Amino acid sequence: MINEIRVICEKCSNMVSLELLTQDCSSHEKAASKKIESNNKMAIRVVSQLIKDSDSSTITLSTGGRPISIARVTNTGVSTGISSRVTKRRRSNEISTIREMLSASDANAQLIDELKLIPEEEKESILKQLNFTIYVPPEENLAMKADLSLPSRKLRLMKRLNQLTWHDGLIPANEIWLKLGGDKGGSSVKISFQIVNTVKPNSVENSCVFCLFEAPDSVFNLHLALDQYYSCVSSLQKAKWKEYSIRVFMSGDYEFLCNIYGISGASGRHCCLWCTITNEELKIPRTTRQQGTITPRSLATLSQKYSEFEADGSNLKKAKMHDNVIGKVFFDIPLSQVCPPGLHITLGIFQRLFNLLEEECHQLDLSITEPCTTNSGMSFRDYLQAKSTITVTEQEQSVLTAELNQAQQILALLLLNSPNPQHDIRVQNVTRLIHSHSTKISTNNHTIVQNKRIVKQGFEREDGIFVKSLERAMASFHVERQVYHGGSFVGNHIHRALKPENIKTMCNSVIATATSLNNSALQSKADEINDKFMDAFNLFAQCHTIYDSNTLLSNAKINELETAIDAFLRFYRESFTATVLPKMHMLEDHLVPWVKRWKVGCGCMGEQGAESLHAMFNNVERAYNNIVDRIERLSVLLQNHHFKLLPANKSLEPPPLKKRPTKPRD
Ligand SMILES: [Zn+2]
Ligand SMILES: [Zn+2]
Repeated sequence: MINEIRVICEKCSNMVSLELLTQDCSSHEKAASKKIESNNKMAIRVVSQLIKDSDSSTITLSTGGRPISIARVTNTGVSTGISSRVTKRRRSNEISTIREMLSASDANAQLIDELKLIPEEEKESILKQLNFTIYVPPEENLAMKADLSLPSRKLRLMKRLNQLTWHDGLIPANEIWLKLGGDKGGSSVKISFQIVNTVKPNSVENSCVFCLFEAPDSVFNLHLALDQYYSCVSSLQKAKWKEYSIRVFMSGDYEFLCNIYGISGASGRHCCLWCTITNEELKIPRTTRQQGTITPRSLATLSQKYSEFEADGSNLKKAKMHDNVIGKVFFDIPLSQVCPPGLHITLGIFQRLFNLLEEECHQLDLSITEPCTTNSGMSFRDYLQAKSTITVTEQEQSVLTAELNQAQQILALLLLNSPNPQHDIRVQNVTRLIHSHSTKISTNNHTIVQNKRIVKQGFEREDGIFVKSLERAMASFHVERQVYHGGSFVGNHIHRALKPENIKTMCNSVIATATSLNNSALQSKADEINDKFMDAFNLFAQCHTIYDSNTLLSNAKINELETAIDAFLRFYRESFTATVLPKMHMLEDHLVPWVKRWKVGCGCMGEQGAESLHAMFNNVERAYNNIVDRIERLSVLLQNHHFKLLPANKSLEPPPLKKRPTKPRD
C-alpha cells in the first residue's frame, strides 16, 4: 500500500510513484529513497498510532469525500492448516471484520457470494472436512430445534401454578427429574421430554416433543437430528434451576435405547445394554452364573469399546469382539438413569408365553382325528375330513383286498372242478365280484392319494379348533391380536389379559375344548397345558403388577418383586425348552437394581408416554392435511403441540361450555 503512494521528487518536483522512482528520475534516486525510508517510518508510526487509538483493527480516515478505511492484516508466518485453533479462529475473525466493512454490514450476503465462487467439487471437499454431510435421505428430513428455553420456562410456570410435585418423597426434595424419550410411530420419529415432577408424568399433556422428523429412525437420521442437543443435555445435567439440581433420565423402546447408546441390538452376541452378557449365557439363572465374566457397561466402557471398534476398521462382522458397541453415545446420560423398557418387556414376554400356548394348542389340533364340524375354521374342517376319509377308506381297502384274495382262490378252485366253467353260474358270480372289487380298490387308492395331499397341505393355524377357541376366549375380554401389527398385541390389551380372571379364561379354554371333543387322551393333555400356562402367566403377572406401577415402591415391595421375578424365570426355564429372551434377562438382571436405586417402576419412568404421543399427533395432523409442504406441516404441528403444552396457555383456555339441559318437549 505504501508503495502506491506518489511522492514529489525533491529535485525535479514531479509526482512520482515510489515504485517507479528509479526509472523516472535516476539522478535523484538516493535522496528520494532516503525520503521513502522516512516516509515509511512516518506512515508506520501514524498508522500504528491510529490503530492503537481505534478499538478495532480497522481505522477510517475522513478525506473530505468518501472516507478511506485501513484494515490491519497480521503478517503471518505459519499457514492456517498447521496453526493452532486459537490462531485459526483469530484469523477468521480478522476476515469477518473486513467482510463486515466491505459489505456495508451485510456480511451474510457477501459470504454467500464468496461460497458461490468456490467450484462445486472443492465445495464438496470442504464440506466433507467440516464433517457436514449434504446427503439428505429420500424422505424429507427435518429436525426442528425447539425453543431450548422451553424446559425452564415450563418449570417456571408450573412452579407458579403450583403444579410441581415430588411424589411424596419419591424424587429427592432438591431434584427436578427430566425424562427424555424417543419413538417411531406412524410416519414420524418423535423425541420428547417429560418433567417427572408432575402429577401424571406419563400423560400426553406432559410430553413435549422437541424434535420431530419424517424419516426412518436409523442411527444416521438420529445423528442428524439429535447431535445438536448433546451439549444441551450435558449442561442440563450440571445445571441448577433455582435450588434444584436437574437429573436427566432416558427412556424408549429397546431398539431406540440401543441406537442411542451405540449397541448393535437385541440380536447381537452381547445383546444387553446394561451388561456384557452373551446370548449363550442368557439361559443360565442369575444365581448360578459364573461371576466375573459379565461386567456392567458404563459410559466409559461404551466409549472405550467404540474406539476399539473404530480402530479395528469399523467392521460390523467383528462387532462381537468389541461387546457389540458399534456407535457413539448420543447423550452423556449414565446407564443407571436409563429406565428398562417396561412396556416392551411386558409385550415381549407376554407374546412369547402366548405363542408357546398357541403352539401347544396347534399340536392338539394336529392330533385330532375325528371330524368336528363346529367351532373351527374351513381349512381345519377340510383337513379333518380328509384325515378321516383316509382312515375310513384304508379300512375299507383292507377288507376289499382280503375278499379279493379269497375270491381269486375260490375262482381257481372252481375253474379246476367245474365241468363247464363258462356256463357255471358260480364262476360268473365270483368273476363279477372280483371285477367290482378291483375297480373299487383302484378308486379308493385314488381317493387316498387325493386326501393325503390335503392332509399334507395342513390347515390354517387359526382355523384349528383349539387355537380358535383360545382366540375366542381372548376376545371375551376384548383382547385381539392386531393383524396390522404383525399378529402382536398392544400394551393396553396385555394389562387386561394379565388379570387373574382373564388368565383363567384363557387357559381354561383348552380344557373346555378337549371336554367338548370327548376324547380322554386329549383331556389329560389339555389339563397339563392348562396347569403349566396358568402358572406361567400368573407368575409373570405378579412381576408385571409391581414393576409397572407408578408409585413409590417400599423395600418390602421391591423384595416381593425380586422373589416374583426369580420364581417366574425359574419356572420358565424348567417348564419350557424355548430360549430365554434378552427382555427376560433385563427383567431378571436389571429391573431390580433400577427399582432399588430409584424406588419407582416403569409405569412412571418407562416409555409409555412417548408411545401415546403418536395417537395424539395423528389426530392433530389430520387437521393440517391441507398444508402441502411437508416441512411446513410438521412445523405447524409442532407449534400447535407446544402451544397446548405450556401450562399458562392451558389456564387461559376457557372452560368447556356447559350444555344447557334441553327442555323436554310437552
Ligand atoms: Zn527528480
Ligand atoms: Zn444385562
